[in-house]
Amino acid sequence: MTRVYINGEFFDKADAKVSVYDHGLLYGDGVFEGIRVYSGKVFKHPEHIARLFESAKHITLEIPMSPAEVQKAVEDTVKINNKVDGYIRLVVTRGPGNLGLDPRGCKPNVIVIVDDISLYPKELYDSGMRIVTASLIRNHPNALNPRIKSLNYLNNILAKIEAIRAGCFEALMLNHKGEVAECTGDNVFIVKNGVLKTPPTDAGILEGITRDVVMQLAREAKIPLQECTMTRHDIYAADECFLTGSAAEVIAVTDCDGRIIGTGKPGPITNKLREAFMKVARA
Ligand code: PMP
Repeated sequence: MTRVYINGEFFDKADAKVSVYDHGLLYGDGVFEGIRVYSGKVFKHPEHIARLFESAKHITLEIPMSPAEVQKAVEDTVKINNKVDGYIRLVVTRGPGNLGLDPRGCKPNVIVIVDDISLYPKELYDSGMRIVTASLIRNHPNALNPRIKSLNYLNNILAKIEAIRAGCFEALMLNHKGEVAECTGDNVFIVKNGVLKTPPTDAGILEGITRDVVMQLAREAKIPLQECTMTRHDIYAADECFLTGSAAEVIAVTDCDGRIIGTGKPGPITNKLREAFMKVARA
């Protein structure tokens, strides 16, 4: 039975409940992290905790625990569930309040769920995946900054629905300037003439932790790397394209909007970085 952590206590999955007055439910008011456990070890744990606290800071949500305490709660939840390989959902909601928007008076809930995840079918990791560009743009950074990993994911969900309706698992999202931002739950990379490229933070993206790891691995492998503005043209004309995310890991994109990317198969740099990533993850 899966045991869920809520505010210092463990509950069976069926009994793990919060109030219907929680502003996390009423307004999507809260923050979260999606984290992997590989070989019993929480992957990039301090980085995820740091991002959680930065997201919380931006929305003025005071997490009622220190970063070290949150980290321990996550470790304890992994242990109590005997999870060796899995996925962690760390959530901090604004907490129960009244029915108005005013967050004052809400008492945050800290929740840790440890379970399994398989985001995309296994075969897609060998064949590469098809994606489409969503008609919906990514949140404008001056509206709800994509750097905040908030519980308000409707922007991404609506784009994901577009992907599903097009028979795809992921959608490419552009920003308000028409530049490539990211996918609904993954960051995007291309390879062109041996250079690895990914949109910069100011394209309006979540600064993915997997993205950081992959950029570091590229530097170590002496693969030239640029964070640069891109348009759909760059994706269509790329030699290779791949996505990164805690749930997705590293997965090739071989078709975008019906344009075959490169050879139509996962490319050599994609495969190299995927292998390097899995090696670091499982280390
Ligand atoms: N962008 C978005 C919108 C996401 O939800 C995620 C998944 N958290 C990512 C990118 C990838 O981030 P990470 O590598 O930290 O999982």
